[in-house]
Amino acid sequence: MPRFAGLRLNSDWGLSSEVELLSPALLEHAAASGASIAFTPTIAVSDPLRDPQVGYARFKLISYGDEGVLALTRPLSSSLDEVSRLLAVMRGLGIARVLSVAAGNLKDALALIDALASGVDAVEFDVGLSCLLAGEDVAYVRELAGELSATLSAPLILKLSAAGANLINVAKTAADVNAAAIVLTPNVVYKIGRHFFRLHSAHMYPALLFSVAESLAAMDVSVAYVTRAEQEPLASLMPLRLLDVTYVLQWLGYATPRARSSIPLSWRGVSKSLRVYARAGARYCPYGLIRGEGFVEGCNLCGACFELNEPGLVELAALLTPSDSGGGP
Ligand code: SF4
Repeated sequence: MPRFAGLRLNSDWGLSSEVELLSPALLEHAAASGASIAFTPTIAVSDPLRDPQVGYARFKLISYGDEGVLALTRPLSSSLDEVSRLLAVMRGLGIARVLSVAAGNLKDALALIDALASGVDAVEFDVGLSCLLAGEDVAYVRELAGELSATLSAPLILKLSAAGANLINVAKTAADVNAAAIVLTPNVVYKIGRHFFRLHSAHMYPALLFSVAESLAAMDVSVAYVTRAEQEPLASLMPLRLLDVTYVLQWLGYATPRARSSIPLSWRGVSKSLRVYARAGARYCPYGLIRGEGFVEGCNLCGACFELNEPGLVELAALLTPSDSGGGP
């Protein structure tokens, strides 16, 4: 069984920080199915789209077919409270716990560590998202990672894009920042204005894994690779597999073919005064909140139910009280 970032794991797979729709029920299912490690969704000091009046979806399904899922997620959309609750669930399940953070400066990174890193087994620092937050190149963020590593009591895991791994000396980068492990991801993060995206494409997983296969074999720091939940033919190349958001669809049992739609350039906001109303037959909610017909309680407006249920089974509606409607004695 692999050792990763100094941790002795019981299996060769877990959940990556790219499961933006992570829920306690999903964590319990993964642990019962043999996952030995879970990363929190990557968090920044605040959601770049944070707005007290408006909510923004976290997930968009672009297509689903024989070749797998093409989807867009919204990194940095989890709150400190959500991540704190997820870490508590992971602790109860006895799996290795990794806090994933992105920051554009050391002050923000330390604020996250102070708020959340107590008792975690390791901290992941996402280089790609941190570059986007800082508006700086990888050299700046590598220096930031080194400063962070020097202050941490837990091991630091460096997360890098597999697309760029050929262009830098990954082993030297890990040594320079004193990283205990590397996570490579084939999924691409990008930013348009305040909107941060991660594109999950079935085509990218094997293509980019081939591109880093040789360097994977030669590295003496432990390495994990982010991959999709469907059977991955190149799995034997990976010492540790970390599944991405496609695991959510597999867990939900979603298997409805979907023709390709366009990839949006921004997320459409929804007034937080509106509530999700589920009709009979609606069933897909990663948080397990749809329990028959009616308004959904505790909803975070992640948008997954609108993407996955049949059209018309889920709607947004205003919940009117007698005073709203002018009624009363
Ligand atoms: S009801 Fe829909 S929008 Fe609300 S948490 Fe569940 S999937 Fe997300």
